[in-house]
Amino acid sequence: MLRTLLLEEMTWPEVEGALAGGFDSVVVAVGAIEQHGRHLPLLVDAVRGDRLALEVARRLGRSLVGPTIRVGCSEHHMGFPGTISVKTDTLKAVCRDYVTSLARHGFRNVYLVPSHGGNFAPLATMLEELRAAGGSKCEVHAYTDLLEFVGLWEEAVREVAPELTRGVGGHADIAESSEMLCIRPDLVREELAEPGYVGGFDAALAERIFAEGLRAVTANGVLGDPRGMSREIGERCIARAAEGIAAAFQAEGR
Ligand SMILES: [Zn+2]
Repeated sequence: MLRTLLLEEMTWPEVEGALAGGFDSVVVAVGAIEQHGRHLPLLVDAVRGDRLALEVARRLGRSLVGPTIRVGCSEHHMGFPGTISVKTDTLKAVCRDYVTSLARHGFRNVYLVPSHGGNFAPLATMLEELRAAGGSKCEVHAYTDLLEFVGLWEEAVREVAPELTRGVGGHADIAESSEMLCIRPDLVREELAEPGYVGGFDAALAERIFAEGLRAVTANGVLGDPRGMSREIGERCIARAAEGIAAAFQAEGR
């Protein structure tokens, strides 16, 4: 039994032992430091990534959790103060170096899990190159279906509080705000929670926000409605997202 699944909290002999014991995979969240409305801080996707990667690793089994890539592709949030964004090429370079480092130590699989909507498409475009970097010994996998991911949140909210399902909008919404109540409740300004764009998240909206930025559709930076957030909803959203992502990886033949 390992004392922790978190690679960065392990010693090198513990990593060596984990590898020898069959822990041959590493899950890495790809997060963001970006605006999340008036009621949530910039680090939401980074700390949600920490938790999501751990939950996915537990479900996959024989998997460690690599350090979350905290800053992602957030150009569409730059209209709001504080957001930090890296270019796709920058993110690709970091992901490639993660893969080659882990491959050199003998890990056989790297699972990239975006915890921020803006990282899904970049990960899809770079996957082929990352796979080449992993070579024949280390396979690279990435979860890249953003609409399916938002659908997992909808399912989770519907199970716990069906009347709040329409609050799922994809960003700083009922799902994400509830997750933060579980992960960093000290940072949630619940009294400032207010709805943003509530037309629902679909392919057309995704195309528009990536082209024009969130400011074009929401004045406060929220997509959806965070009102009614709860820890119960949050735990269900975290679990459902992890189940869905792990299942997608398993379906591709882990
Ligand atoms: Zn977010």
